Amino acid sequence: MRFPTVGEIATTKVVTVTRESILSEVIDVMCHHGHRNIIVEDRNSFFLLGINDVLSAKMRVPNLDISIASLELAKIPTVYKNENILSTIEYLNCNLEHICALNEDGTLYGILTHTDITSSIDPDTLMNSFCLDDFLKLGKRVKWIRKETKTSVILQEMINNATDSVMIVEESKPIGIFTTKDVVKIIRKNLDVEAPISTYMSSPVDTLGKESSVKEALDFLAQKHYKRVVVVNDDGSLSGMITQKELISLAYSRWAMLTKEYQEELGKINESLIKKNAQIEHLASRDPLTNLYNRYKFSKLFELSHKAMVEREGVMSLVMVDVDFFKKINDTYGHGVGDMVLVGISELFLSLLREEDIVCRWGGEEFVILLPSANLKDALSLAEKLRGRIEMMEMQSVHRVTASFGVTQVRVDDDLKSAVDRADNALYGAKDAGRNCVVQN
Ligand code: GH3
Ligand code: MG
Ligand code: MG
Repeated sequence: MRFPTVGEIATTKVVTVTRESILSEVIDVMCHHGHRNIIVEDRNSFFLLGINDVLSAKMRVPNLDISIASLELAKIPTVYKNENILSTIEYLNCNLEHICALNEDGTLYGILTHTDITSSIDPDTLMNSFCLDDFLKLGKRVKWIRKETKTSVILQEMINNATDSVMIVEESKPIGIFTTKDVVKIIRKNLDVEAPISTYMSSPVDTLGKESSVKEALDFLAQKHYKRVVVVNDDGSLSGMITQKELISLAYSRWAMLTKEYQEELGKINESLIKKNAQIEHLASRDPLTNLYNRYKFSKLFELSHKAMVEREGVMSLVMVDVDFFKKINDTYGHGVGDMVLVGISELFLSLLREEDIVCRWGGEEFVILLPSANLKDALSLAEKLRGRIEMMEMQSVHRVTASFGVTQVRVDDDLKSAVDRADNALYGAKDAGRNCVVQN
């Protein structure tokens, strides 16, 4: 098995526009296809137009009926579709997430992202699927030596270049190998270094085809007790040489790099999911106007608080608040001002209540407040304080706002409905008593 080609993993369903297109029309195309990015084709070059480009254009010019040629867009790297995906690895360091896959004639074939690349390289199969040829392209070239070359010249070269082996080649084919092991032999036996290298080289040379996998090469080295593998092309000509150490370290460093990339990618996805979840949780539990808890969330919190109250044999009270003559405020000053009053009252509640108190927008201009650990007396005095502060509240255009309060202490056998019903009765009592007052039940 080999790594897939760029074409095999590229997405071919790509929407492109030309450099002359009008931005507002391009936005329509993006919306229609549900794409966050779109490829802009300009002869043989490709650019990416993303949401950020749209936004920054919007900040600069109010009318988006402009040609996208006026925008400065990021150029997308390109790779031919028949290339191995390893050739895209260098682009993983690039900020742009996308790479264009091209047909042989340079036209666009498809597009692939960093995630496509990293997820199609399975570390488990790396050793099996990475072939020697891939490595030789990455590694350095081996020096070719002719068999007539004097041994002393080669020894000098080995010292100069700190190499531990050379290949002796005839008509492009490897015919011998000369390593530091042979050097030791020459020194020990004090052999003639002016003799040609063919005198001392090991011959013939065991070779492997360049299509062999890294795994095969490592097995081959272990079996033969060699330290390096000589790689040949199909016609037997020398392709290159690679040491066992290089094989292992190259394979593992690639693997480490790819898994790191992949983990970073997964980490980012995870982070954004956690954020999204928190946002969804927030949306599902809050009233959008006042940002107070909604009924749904309040009922959950009531249940928890009630359970805690029963377990600890504690106390808890519930206050129901309804703004007086709110319809009149809307009718006189408009709905917008009415909304402002609701927000103002919510903020007042939050500023006066304790951390553990739970405030909810129950409905239109009605609020419910749960006061854990407050008995009826505490709750009454708090309600009285809130009532007084609402009455004193300074609001733009609306001169005076008041609210009525119904207060009850939550009982052990209560559920949310029975507690709210009692508070609601008290609230009716307050309305009956002329409003802007606190009544208990
Ligand atoms: P009462 O003193 O008896 O409570 O009289 P009220 O006018 O406050 O009571 P009523 O229930 O008749 O009117 C409530 C009004 O609240 C009617 C509705 O249009 C308005 N309302 C409900 N939700 C909102 C909202 O989100 N924003 C605004 N501005 N008004 C709202
Ligand atoms: Mg009401
Ligand atoms: Mg009202």
